[in-house]
Amino acid sequence: MTLPKRMIPISKPILGEEEKKAVLETMESGMIVQGPRVAKLEENFAKVIGTKHAIATSSGTTALHIAMLAHGLGPGDEVITSPFTFIASVNSIIYTGATPVYCDIDPNTFNIDPAKLEALITPKTKAILPVHLYGLACDMTAIEAIAKKHGLAIIEDCAQSIGARWGQTMTGAFGTGCFSLYATKNVMSGEGGMITTNDDKVADLAKAIRGHGMRRRYYHDLLGYNFRMTDLHAAIGIVQLGRLDEFTNKRRANAAWLNAHLTRVKTPKCFTSCGNDCAASCSHVWHQYTVRLEGASADERDRAVARLNEVGVGCGVFYPVPATKQQHIIDLGLHHGNVPLAETISNEVFSLPVHPSLNGEDLEYIAHHVNAL
Ligand SMILES: *Cc1c(COP(=O)(O)O)cnc(C)c1O
Repeated sequence: MTLPKRMIPISKPILGEEEKKAVLETMESGMIVQGPRVAKLEENFAKVIGTKHAIATSSGTTALHIAMLAHGLGPGDEVITSPFTFIASVNSIIYTGATPVYCDIDPNTFNIDPAKLEALITPKTKAILPVHLYGLACDMTAIEAIAKKHGLAIIEDCAQSIGARWGQTMTGAFGTGCFSLYATKNVMSGEGGMITTNDDKVADLAKAIRGHGMRRRYYHDLLGYNFRMTDLHAAIGIVQLGRLDEFTNKRRANAAWLNAHLTRVKTPKCFTSCGNDCAASCSHVWHQYTVRLEGASADERDRAVARLNEVGVGCGVFYPVPATKQQHIIDLGLHHGNVPLAETISNEVFSLPVHPSLNGEDLEYIAHHVNAL
């Protein structure tokens, strides 16, 4: 069987009439910097995640950076995180002068393996930074228990997990949550980020750090930055956040279809023991649909990805190099870690389109070409 060639991108921002109207209205209002729309997005975000506070930022990276600083992290402190993530998770630790410590991953979930976490704790450990990779929540029952036992803060990287739950709790509500609203994320504003927390002190510090340490105009209480969001971005974010369930349901349906139809690759499952009835209400939000070519070398995987891209199945590799092998981290001497699974799996993974714009023919086309690899 050959199917007529198409071109299916790995991700596709969905911007409709409502988003356009919201931006135009903002421009016409004359208030384009941080103002009423940022406040509204924060209010709506806190409601969705179920936290007392939400603080909008200029990006997911600045959300993470601010969160680290608001928790008082700095030189001499250690933060445990995943080496198998977008580099911003690790860079945000490095920005503060703290040291990243890498916990190996569970090959089934791609998230840090809580069974390997406790052995990494030293007297210098101050926080755990779980990354809910691809939209699947980490095992927060186990991580919370370890954090509580050792008095550690939890700062969650929720850049890919908006709407994902662990049990009945949204990711971002376990500790201090850091979200990204970058153009390819499940819900977006172009560029943007959000910090969620129930901690009044963290929220107050985060707001101050976002705006040059200013609680009162031109009185600078502490060293801050300009990490603000604009109302133009917030206007898009408000509309997009309102479409969270619509987007998530479509991603889940696409992932379920792919799980049922792909034969040539190891498909991802929602392996959580979160207590959700996954068949009825899967908590995975499928930011990426990531498969494995088990036992493949990076070259073999790259050849498969090139073949698929050639026929118009847009694939990406998230992520080909774990933090422990990134050049700038080696140069800084911050690459030490015993993470064999992250290093193997980064050779085997690639991600297929799962975004809400796919139609039935797109899915058939993807399955046909993946199964022919
Ligand atoms: C996108 C992303 C970030 C950074 O967000 P930006 O908005 O691009 O700065 C951080 N962590 C993870 C896991 C991400 O996917």
